[in-house]
Amino acid sequence: MIKVTAVEPDSIAEELGLKAGTELVSVNGRELEDFLDWEFLTAEEEIRLHVRQPDGEEIEFEIERPLGEPMGLALEPPRIRRCANRCDFCFVDGLPEGLRDVLYIRDDDYRLSFRYGNFATLTNLKRRDIERIIEYRLSPLYVSVHATDPGVRRYLLRNPTAPDIIPQLSGFADHGIRFHTQVVMSPGVNDGAVLRQTLDDLWAFGPAVLSCSVVPVGLTEFSKHHLCREPTTEECVAAVLEVESRWPAALAQREAHWVYGADELYLRAGLALPEAGVYDGFEQVENGVGSVRWLQQRIATEAASLGGWRGQRIGVVTGTAMAALMPQVLEPLARATGAAFELVPVVNTLFGPSVTTAGLLPGGAIREALTAQTGLALALLPGECVNDDGRFIDNLSIEGLAAGLPLEIRLSKDFADALAFPLAA
Ligand code: SF4
Repeated sequence: MIKVTAVEPDSIAEELGLKAGTELVSVNGRELEDFLDWEFLTAEEEIRLHVRQPDGEEIEFEIERPLGEPMGLALEPPRIRRCANRCDFCFVDGLPEGLRDVLYIRDDDYRLSFRYGNFATLTNLKRRDIERIIEYRLSPLYVSVHATDPGVRRYLLRNPTAPDIIPQLSGFADHGIRFHTQVVMSPGVNDGAVLRQTLDDLWAFGPAVLSCSVVPVGLTEFSKHHLCREPTTEECVAAVLEVESRWPAALAQREAHWVYGADELYLRAGLALPEAGVYDGFEQVENGVGSVRWLQQRIATEAASLGGWRGQRIGVVTGTAMAALMPQVLEPLARATGAAFELVPVVNTLFGPSVTTAGLLPGGAIREALTAQTGLALALLPGECVNDDGRFIDNLSIEGLAAGLPLEIRLSKDFADALAFPLAA
């Protein structure tokens, strides 16, 4: 059963009398468990829908609708699948106390992997989940492989019962499921020869493994530093060389580079980022792989619509990691807009200075950094630093931040989105 949370006006759902609180019980006699069942079972032109209204009345509808016409309702979010692992580098272990409860949940959910590109380890799948992945063809899935050696993977995940990833992926691949994969590189554990073997094994899958990224492990002040550490410059250089050594064969055989180093890996290695063409379709840009080149491309594409800012001073808030790379993005942005962009690198006061990603910046630290600025017309904030409810990791809302500042602030994913319209009067 899934609960309806909202119904759109003039929609099929409204016509049927569905409302917030209506329980969707089954479609064509099959019980509904979550949004996946709903989306896949209602994909037919004709369906039989059994609902329970908030007053307890049970109704069965025979519905005919043109293919593709939405029902017009919103569903309660699925109960998140808990993770079965205990990785030493887990982000949740690295959280300070006192944050929102939801942040302490270790989620590992194949449904969110399919829907939003969240990486999942697939170590908590039940038989029913495996059947659904195959029946609904949930592809591509984003999979945290880390290592194909079962012993190393179990060690990394701290999960002695984690299934062997190679047969697991093979079983899905036989049914046409494809994967984007990642290796979070923990030095001394899954780099070097283990990384080589992992990439060999994933490459051997052929087209079923669409891409693989190598991301250096990120730790906070609160992480288990006695159990894992961040990679050295030399270790990052070695990983980059391992990645790049595979490009000639990948290009020759698959017309794509296939394996990519995260921007952070290049940064830590002290090496220049590859050109934009290396990232092919930017399939893992949300994972910090090719973000700088993607931003440059977006700016170049949208340059014509970014006028109207000549002479303005615009602040760009960023984590200290991207601060080193941002000049490569801001220079073409300044050319396209005529504005002067000033970096505002913010040190993470909640997790400690070693946490340098923009997505984890607390609103309080941003407020402090922006309060110290003078003469800015506008400040752009990384879109990923707030959740769907517009709250920073320290629970400050975007409205709360804006209210205490003497300048306009805008969230932005690619600059073009935030600069496409003028300043508020
Ligand atoms: S897979 Fe590892 S890192 Fe991810 S939530 Fe689980 S324990 Fe944490």
